[in-house]
Amino acid sequence: MFMDNGYERVDFDHDADVYVINTCTVTNTGDKKSRQIIRRAVRKNPEAIVCVTGCYAQTSPGEIMEIPGVDIVVGTQDRKKMIGYIEEHQKTREPINGVTNIMKNRVFEEMDVPEFTDRTRASLKIQEGCNNFCTFCIIPWSRGLLRSRDPESVVLQAQKLVDAGYKEIVLTGIHTAGYGEDMKDYNFAMLLHDLETKVDGLKRIRISSIEASQITDEVIEALDRSEKIVRHLHIPLQSGSDTVLGRMRRKYSSAFYKEKVNKIRKALPDLAITSDVIVGFPGETDKEFMETYNFIKEVGYSELHVFPFSRRTGTPAARMKDQVDEDLKNERVHRLIELSDQLAKEYASQFEDEVLEVIPEERILDDNHPEMLVGYTDNYLKVRFAGTPEMIGKIVRVKLTKAGYPYNEGTFVRIMESATHATV
Ligand code: SF4
Repeated sequence: MFMDNGYERVDFDHDADVYVINTCTVTNTGDKKSRQIIRRAVRKNPEAIVCVTGCYAQTSPGEIMEIPGVDIVVGTQDRKKMIGYIEEHQKTREPINGVTNIMKNRVFEEMDVPEFTDRTRASLKIQEGCNNFCTFCIIPWSRGLLRSRDPESVVLQAQKLVDAGYKEIVLTGIHTAGYGEDMKDYNFAMLLHDLETKVDGLKRIRISSIEASQITDEVIEALDRSEKIVRHLHIPLQSGSDTVLGRMRRKYSSAFYKEKVNKIRKALPDLAITSDVIVGFPGETDKEFMETYNFIKEVGYSELHVFPFSRRTGTPAARMKDQVDEDLKNERVHRLIELSDQLAKEYASQFEDEVLEVIPEERILDDNHPEMLVGYTDNYLKVRFAGTPEMIGKIVRVKLTKAGYPYNEGTFVRIMESATHATV
């Protein structure tokens, strides 16, 4: 939008006439870091127009307007009005608060995102918001309730991204696979089918995250017959203990989750499953932690993202009694990270000596080899191999010679297709 209106983008280290700061509020640290960066922008050029947007702006516009030097606040909706506000402020020099009640919004805000700085993978946002209200999470208050993007617009955006040279599209959102829950005759499985059949030249579709409850028979079938959806699902767990899941207000039990995993593994035995886990949720006992530990071992994830519970002000969990001691949380985090490393190696070792398709993303420094590339396979194995920079962004066949974590070692076999990519 700014480019279309004649603005030029400069690096943060340059002086700018307008600063647009996109903020985060998922943790209290997100708020703090956002405030720091706003102050830095104001210090850099006190004459500049400072416009603050994003989740922290949505939930706390008053707090942000009070920071000296902030001129405009826009939340997570009405972002198309931003340039108009900037021009208005240039004339009037009056502060503008453009934040409105997000909870009333039931329509997905269309915004064209035709390219990314990371040139190998493109994110495609298909929905916004969440209706779940887990007790530790502030997101529904910053993003509002679930709303889906129009299917035709999703397909059009995907085609645009493929035409711009992207091989892989990652479907993203807040509650991504909740796509369609606000529609009558259309659902997530149908969107997957449309993307597969209507987008010319698309090679890989990745779903950024899917809740266990959203793995319906229809979705399993779509994955099973697809040639483009990758063999990888991220299924958030958060805890493997039913009592903790209850306190988190997650809408499944460990048994339900396991049943879904078993079902999908039956259809797709090689599937990589990754997950998020929160450790040290209020009141988490040793027994509850061990229930989570053992559950994770049983499921056999290919990678885990482990987070120590962080008290997000304004959420029910932040007010719960029995907050877990920080040292104990850290100890539990380390135990789960160790388990995750071990499970990741076990998963990857199944593919040793196999030839897999990798999309190299970047060069990495390696003392023994000047041309080392790194990229992901469809089943999300991070592979390091000797190659040349022209391979970046293309689909390359690589033999996995040694499983490991975080890197697997491989040797280049051949390039699958010669289509050149735009600037890398
Ligand atoms: S489902 Fe995800 S986004 Fe929604 S409230 Fe729970 S943690 Fe937050």
